[in-house]
Amino acid sequence: MRVVLVGPPGAGKGTQARLLAQRLDVPHISTGELFRANMEDCTPLGLEAKRYMDAGELVPDSVTVGMVRERLARDDVAKGFVLDGFPRTVPQAESLRDLLAEENEQLDAVVEFQVPEDVVVERLMERGRGDDTEEVIRRRQQVYWEETSPLLEHYRDRLLGVDAVGPVDEITTRVLDVLRARL
Ligand code: AMP
Repeated sequence: MRVVLVGPPGAGKGTQARLLAQRLDVPHISTGELFRANMEDCTPLGLEAKRYMDAGELVPDSVTVGMVRERLARDDVAKGFVLDGFPRTVPQAESLRDLLAEENEQLDAVVEFQVPEDVVVERLMERGRGDDTEEVIRRRQQVYWEETSPLLEHYRDRLLGVDAVGPVDEITTRVLDVLRARL
């Protein structure tokens, strides 16, 4: 099962991705977490990414795609994955398609987390991560609508919408239900 989660920052993708990955028994791959791990280890990739992350901007596609290519080369993705926070642009989606095609694979489903903007801003203010200041939160929302939301049209033939407002376990059930109905 190869699944991508799309939705605005604060929609709960990270929490759900972790739970879904457990239920589906596949790895959870979060580009945000991979960048943060690199930042902690002070790798050149982490230092490069930090400038963008601190400003709420996207890390350039070439950097991000290179990191994902390495991650998808590992053996544990043979059964599939839950991708969280990637792709975030149409060119990233095209790179992902090409990476998977090299292994004669493709995505099974793209799940859209639907949640009103006031709910996501509230959730992010509560989370309090380093890049969760109000200004950066607003910029990330704007970047989502400008650069990431075109993916919804790009993936229209495999897009599954889920209402992402509600208790965590209920949302997990909703996502698993739409995935089952699809496959
Ligand atoms: P996240 O943990 O998904 O909220 O991502 C945190 C930050 O990492 C984002 O605001 C971006 O700066 C960067 N980032 C994560 N994933 C990507 C991606 N696919 N493309 C570009 N930048 C990304």
